[in-house]
Amino acid sequence: NTYVHFRNDHVIVSEMDVRVISLASELARKEMTHLIGNLPKPILIENLTAILDKLHLFLQKGVQSNLELTEDELLNAITENQITPFYQPKVDSKTNKVSSIEVLARIIRPQDLNPIPPSAFIPVAEKYDLINLLTFQLFEKSTADHSRLVQTLDHDFKTAINLSSIQLRDLDCPNKLGTILDIYDMKPAQVILEITEEYALDSPEQLETLNRLRMRGFGLSLDDFGTGFTNLNQLRTLPFTEIKIDRSLISGIHNDPFSQTIVNALVDLSKKQNIDLVAEGIELFEELEFLQNYDRNILMQGYLISKPKP
Ligand code: C2E
Ligand code: MG
Ligand code: MG
Repeated sequence: NTYVHFRNDHVIVSEMDVRVISLASELARKEMTHLIGNLPKPILIENLTAILDKLHLFLQKGVQSNLELTEDELLNAITENQITPFYQPKVDSKTNKVSSIEVLARIIRPQDLNPIPPSAFIPVAEKYDLINLLTFQLFEKSTADHSRLVQTLDHDFKTAINLSSIQLRDLDCPNKLGTILDIYDMKPAQVILEITEEYALDSPEQLETLNRLRMRGFGLSLDDFGTGFTNLNQLRTLPFTEIKIDRSLISGIHNDPFSQTIVNALVDLSKKQNIDLVAEGIELFEELEFLQNYDRNILMQGYLISKPKP
């Protein structure tokens, strides 16, 4: 209950057993506070540095870039057909095959040197009700690219599209996605919908849409696991087919007992529930090596394997 009083990010400094710490983290999650990690005593400089690096990662997420498009600029980019899919693969740790490819939105305009990242326009799209237009443009382009990419890889793979949790409030969302798939002759089973929970996923409409999407055959992926509101217990009832472990739990995992405890639990749970498990944001060979040691197919994603590409 002491957690109720903390509303900031925090760290557990303790010499306790990892199980005690993981229970504490579960409690912290229930109280919706944010736990960055734990520091074993006596405190070593390298552990403290690792924790501060993680804090930096979270703050980056919150602050993001200062550049944001205006409503008019975004509307213009949509009508000019400038919403562009970038692709990043998820590779099976045991077979080394590309199991799915995530579509990440960019805006490419002739007047800019670099593609505009999603942090500059996704929040704007959500605010001004342009997120469906944007998603459908992206979805159309990536389904059209699908067959060409299949030829390049020489085997089939799934396309993973990001949805904002507000899009789930629209009960007609499954029909709209289904219509685009029909045009390109694709099946929902070839598509994974990645959903980040900026807010708890608990409204009746959101849960109903999740269920309808699942019943149609779409794969459902819980993105950024470890930063949102979902706890291990809820995974039992939500119809997810994939969990993506957030980069904050993957970065430095090879020497972080806290992240290891959580990932161990996720490996067990996902095996029992037959849910796919993805490790996001792998940048170091040591992280990859650590994850490959699990007796379980984990899907690997991150700059080490491939950066997102046009
Ligand atoms: P996400 O879905 O969790 O995507 C992962 C983000 O991490 C991507 O950033 C990707 O480029 C980046 N990333 C991948 N591997 C690494 C790595 O090894 N190291 C580091 N440092 N970063 C890595 P990006 O493309 O800027 O996208 C950020 C977020 O924007 C996405 O997070 C997703 O939540 C959102 N987003 C992107 N496209 C869409 C979209 O079409 N619709 C919606 N609703 N959201 C989108
Ligand atoms: Mg994603
Ligand atoms: Mg993610």
